[in-house]
Amino acid sequence: MPSDKPKPYRAKRDFRKTREPGGGKGGRGRKHEPIFIIQKHRASTLHYDFRLEVDGVLKSWAVPKGPSFDPREKRLAVEVEDHPIEYATFEGSIPEGEDGAGEVIVWDRGRWEPVGDPHDGLRKGKLEFDLDGEKLHGRWVLVRIHSRERSSKPNWLLIKQHDDFARPLTEYDVETAEPRSV
Ligand code: MN
Repeated sequence: MPSDKPKPYRAKRDFRKTREPGGGKGGRGRKHEPIFIIQKHRASTLHYDFRLEVDGVLKSWAVPKGPSFDPREKRLAVEVEDHPIEYATFEGSIPEGEDGAGEVIVWDRGRWEPVGDPHDGLRKGKLEFDLDGEKLHGRWVLVRIHSRERSSKPNWLLIKQHDDFARPLTEYDVETAEPRSV
């Protein structure tokens, strides 16, 4: 058995019950621009699962209010377990009784490019990157606001940086303007 499976992800799911992908095909050695994906997830509370491909897995954050193009909007992003790369295309229903039960749609997808070394960014708690998605574009930053030592699920803020894509929330709310699946 490959040892690089994200075990917490698998441990939390019963694959006889959920149609979510199990992962474990091995994402190493992939040579392409890394992908990002945002899944809109109607679980007990609606949230957006923001996922960045790093080293063959999807680093993941749950963003309760979703992203905003307004640099003044600092959106809470709760770090959650890495997901397997195959999760990027998952849409459907997670059955009742399973972790995250509810409907999942792929709300945005595309390529992402880190500014600098993403491993440094993740470790230091400031990850800056460009998104080239169908809905999201331009430069964004994730800033960790609680230290790893104090919480098993660190909190981050997802913030739009000032660039040509930035827009005030009063002018454009991507969540209500673009509610549907890609
Ligand atoms: Mn979720």
